Amino acid sequence: MNILQERCVACDKELPYTILSSVGQLCDTCKKQGLFRKKLIITGITRMERGNICVSGIDPETWRFVRPVYPGGINRDFVMEGATQIIRHFNLVEMEFIKYDPQHIHHNEDWIVNENFAPKYIRHLNNQEIIKVLEKMSISNLNEAIDRMDKSLFIVKARGIIRIWDEHQYGKFKVRINFVDYSRNIFEKIPVSDLLVLAKVRWMIRNGKRYSYEMMNIFNNNPFRYIRIGLTREFHGQYWKQVTALITIPDMFDGETFADYEKKLGDQV
Ligand SMILES: [Zn+2]
Repeated sequence: MNILQERCVACDKELPYTILSSVGQLCDTCKKQGLFRKKLIITGITRMERGNICVSGIDPETWRFVRPVYPGGINRDFVMEGATQIIRHFNLVEMEFIKYDPQHIHHNEDWIVNENFAPKYIRHLNNQEIIKVLEKMSISNLNEAIDRMDKSLFIVKARGIIRIWDEHQYGKFKVRINFVDYSRNIFEKIPVSDLLVLAKVRWMIRNGKRYSYEMMNIFNNNPFRYIRIGLTREFHGQYWKQVTALITIPDMFDGETFADYEKKLGDQV
């Protein structure tokens, strides 16, 4: 679906002309620019094939989602600075990008990252700031938002999670969720690709905890509850939904990261 593009996708300056397009547009200055530094509010770190990860965030200058991509995939080391995981939910992090590289259906958030520039940690947002981000960026009707075909990343205001369970598929540990969005659409068997949920569930299973009950209880009783959804690339003719984060304020994970759990587990999810 084409949208009237009025502002530069990189610097948010008003364009001298408006254009109907399914993807963002760069102003003339940004078009000439070789590299873009952007501060991102991190909202997702997910599991990909071959030990790679996918990172996504929000650009607080343009209030657009940005997905740093790299040909061949992003390595796990990218999120770490020494032993600290600096790319984690609601950290503000600076990265450098080579160019805006949008796809015309759904995936118009892609930016090719400069892998020679190590991401710089700036600070962690406080709860009041996070609530503002969520209120500004969230949607209440996921089906309606997906039908527009102009995004692949969504923060969905949720009524609740109805079921969480784990299974093994092709030798891979999987977690799935049934949930209801704020407009009462029901979504079933949505796989979780969020590294934090995957690692935490594995840790709780290992310790004999009833993770399903415990996580639903914390999530559903929180006044601020959101589910981050990402769409996959086209696969068998569809763009599949994945849960890329469970977000509550206060944080249902008590500030722990997937790297913390993987350290305790002694391996990767
Ligand atoms: Zn610009």
